[in-house]
Amino acid sequence: MATQETVEHKYVYDFAEGNRDLKDLLGGKGANLAEMTNLGLPVPPGFTITTEACQAYLTTGREPDGLAGQIEAHLESLEREMGRRLGDPGDPLLVSVRSGAKFSMPGMMETVLNVGLNDRSVIGLSTQAGGNDRFAWDSYRRLIQMFGKTVCEVPGEEFEHALDEAKHAKGTRNDLDLDADDLRGLVDAYKKIFAKHTGREFPQEPREQLDLAIRAVFDSWNAERAILYRRQERIPADLGTAVNVVSMVFGNLGPDSGTGVAFTRDPGSGAQGIYGDYLANAQGEDVVAGIRNTVPLQELEQLDKSSYDELLGIMARLEEHYKDLCDIEFTIERGKLWMLQTRVGKRTAAAAFVIAGQLVDEGLIDLDEALHRVNGAQLAQLMFPRFQLDHDVPPVAKGIGASPGAASGKVVFTSARAVELAAEGESVILVRRETNPDDLNGMIAAKGILTSRGGKTSHAAVVARGMGKTCVSGADELEVNVPAKKFTVGGHTVGEGDVVSIDGTTGKVYLGEVPVMPSEVVQYFEGSLDPEHIDNPLVRAVHRIMTHADAARRLRVRTNADTGADAARARRFGAEGIGLCRTEHMFLGDRRELVERLILAAGEREREDALAALLPLQRADFVEIFREMDGLPVTVRLIDPPLHEFLPPLEQLAVNVAVAQERGEDVAKEEALLSAVRRMHEENPMLGLRGVRLGLVIPGLFAMQVRAIAEAAVAVTRDGGTACPEIMVPLVGAVQELETVRAEAEKIIAEVVGDSGVEVLIGTMIEVPRAALTAGQIAEAAEFFSFGTNDLTQMAWGFSRDDVEGAFFWRYLELGIFGISPFESIDADGVGRLVRIAAEEGRAARPGLKLGVCGEHGGDPDSVHFFHEVGLDYVSCSPFRVPVARLEAGRAAVSTTGSDSR
Ligand code: ADP
Ligand code: MG
Ligand code: MG
Repeated sequence: MATQETVEHKYVYDFAEGNRDLKDLLGGKGANLAEMTNLGLPVPPGFTITTEACQAYLTTGREPDGLAGQIEAHLESLEREMGRRLGDPGDPLLVSVRSGAKFSMPGMMETVLNVGLNDRSVIGLSTQAGGNDRFAWDSYRRLIQMFGKTVCEVPGEEFEHALDEAKHAKGTRNDLDLDADDLRGLVDAYKKIFAKHTGREFPQEPREQLDLAIRAVFDSWNAERAILYRRQERIPADLGTAVNVVSMVFGNLGPDSGTGVAFTRDPGSGAQGIYGDYLANAQGEDVVAGIRNTVPLQELEQLDKSSYDELLGIMARLEEHYKDLCDIEFTIERGKLWMLQTRVGKRTAAAAFVIAGQLVDEGLIDLDEALHRVNGAQLAQLMFPRFQLDHDVPPVAKGIGASPGAASGKVVFTSARAVELAAEGESVILVRRETNPDDLNGMIAAKGILTSRGGKTSHAAVVARGMGKTCVSGADELEVNVPAKKFTVGGHTVGEGDVVSIDGTTGKVYLGEVPVMPSEVVQYFEGSLDPEHIDNPLVRAVHRIMTHADAARRLRVRTNADTGADAARARRFGAEGIGLCRTEHMFLGDRRELVERLILAAGEREREDALAALLPLQRADFVEIFREMDGLPVTVRLIDPPLHEFLPPLEQLAVNVAVAQERGEDVAKEEALLSAVRRMHEENPMLGLRGVRLGLVIPGLFAMQVRAIAEAAVAVTRDGGTACPEIMVPLVGAVQELETVRAEAEKIIAEVVGDSGVEVLIGTMIEVPRAALTAGQIAEAAEFFSFGTNDLTQMAWGFSRDDVEGAFFWRYLELGIFGISPFESIDADGVGRLVRIAAEEGRAARPGLKLGVCGEHGGDPDSVHFFHEVGLDYVSCSPFRVPVARLEAGRAAVSTTGSDSR
């Protein structure tokens, strides 16, 4: 129990006591108000109640001991400093009560301005403002409105409705035309609304207003929307929010007063120069609420030159201090400038790169820091094609940018229709209220997906991201009527076959076709833009930062590529080899027939013939790839999928046989195929006869592939090139499997390579949990490990990827069981632990063992950081992800602090 002697826990900080590093305790807003105060900037005095007080209140249901007294003491000293008492009838001190958590969070209580006004102090306020009645009553009606809405949950529309009525009665649309009498009348109307909804009169006691408002901020931490937002953004639920109590300054005192918001650079493009809006004779949110037309900040120069100059000076100072783009809120009270908020401002992906580059030029940050200021997700965004909107084409609706990209196409409302039209070669956009697992085929067929409901974790969003398909979800202005095959939006009716365009980055929806243009950043990576001679500031910044990332990173970046064309593109994107060359496609197309012969082979002789026919075809494929990757390592995976995947589907074969029999044709071959397919049918093909198991069961299959690889390498080398093949055995779970394959392969390699100087490594994938757990043994027979994190994730979780993502991942995400699909970003705790064990024990058994990763995680930003930290040698990813992986590998290498990316 707290006694009088124990030192009381400090729950309240004066602005002068805090600083920007105290965001955990004071929240973002409070920490930055303190920082500005200590910089000597004009901040209205005030104090911050800590997040710890909020946490204590939320766990016990009451304000912690000592809090009330500390608030009292800080209020008293604020009153002394200001020379006024809270709500004093003659000359009232008024305050704002503002929430402010560590991360800014929609769904929490916003702000109550003018706390301390009541029926008596409103007169005092007017007198003090030189008899400005209008101002005093305007401030009072705002208090009742904001207090009613945010503290007592009175529906906001009722107040807005009463305000509209007052303007209507006056025959105006501008709130400035309401005079003091009108506003006094409005206060009466507001009080009635307040009483009707709360069952009590509007509280007249200033201290009660203050306490209720503070408590409402605490409570808003657990508002439903706030909880949902935290879950999605992975913000811990126990942080709590701080509360800022700030003495009021008034932008609504007349034409020489006003309020505004500004950015120190353009947050859209990153261009230098200030950007902002100003509204004269207004308070608080009026600027952003759009109730009157704001003017560009530059016009303030004409209105109030000295405040304008001071503001510019402060903005320059803030940039220099924070070394980054800042956004600010300010108010001018009768020619006196006040700073009400600042923070490091949000920006677009393009602006992030441009600004980071500029700050280096300006000497404010170094290149390591610039690398921290951007991320792979932003780079990936810049690599998508964009809509080319020359003039300002207005969107008809805006939803959530759920999966990036730009897509135009004909509207369809059912999965079946999407499949039909796509088969005719049309681009289609599947429009649904929300999607469900039955829509999967339509989603695959569509260019893009548009829904009127659901957020970033809805079924549509999750599945679309998994497929890399453009998706806008939750465009709630759309009235979707599936039976009638139409949707309506803003007076337009859009039917099946009409064209719409959707932007999965911004969430915007356009009627008609919007032309799509390729990304300049991709053109740069493709090598068609010379970075030294280009005046596109974005490309210049990307070039500079990528160059630094490449110099800094320890991880190598390879690509997953199965063809010469993919290999060539990836190389232009900076790939330093191939980490996964699948050989499956080498058994498809017109080569299927040879595979059928292989499977149906009656004896050794027939099988060898089929393999001999496949050999030169495979060799030619490898020659092409080795040439493109001249001098760089190429990891070739021996055939992995179950063989029946190369045969026609059972149903189709059965029908063919029946029809042919009916016609009296010769069906011997079809029947043989059919019985082979029946024989090879598996209940769980993913856990069946595939990978190394195939190689051990079908004689000569792996041997043929090994020979093709070795011969191709020798051929390329004889032509003056350098081939560096690495043969990778999939799905190994026991060292004995690998040893068997290895013994056979080594013989063939020795025979083929001879004295050509070609060196062929043999290694294995680590993708079965048992392989990870026995890595020490497996390393004895492997020169390298490559983590196949897709299968490793499937088998560690027991998830069949093809089924689970569409079936229930949305629910898991909604419940917060995971924040992101473990197929998108590696599950560091579980799957990652297997990687760690295998890396450590593998290297212990064989120092110098090469370690890489070839699952899709190789191109995921968070996963790249994990692989860096585990100490792998390289990651491998699809060609388009190579630049993202290079950037993130660089960021991982220079990361020293756990900097906040939120
Ligand atoms: P948000 O986090 O939604 O921006 P704020 O707490 O910043 O909420 O406040 C909303 C508005 O009220 C802002 O425009 C801010 O500048 C203004 N405001 C807040 N406190 C004061 C104050 N003490 N005097 C004048 N205006 C204020
Ligand atoms: Mg604000
Ligand atoms: Mg696999």
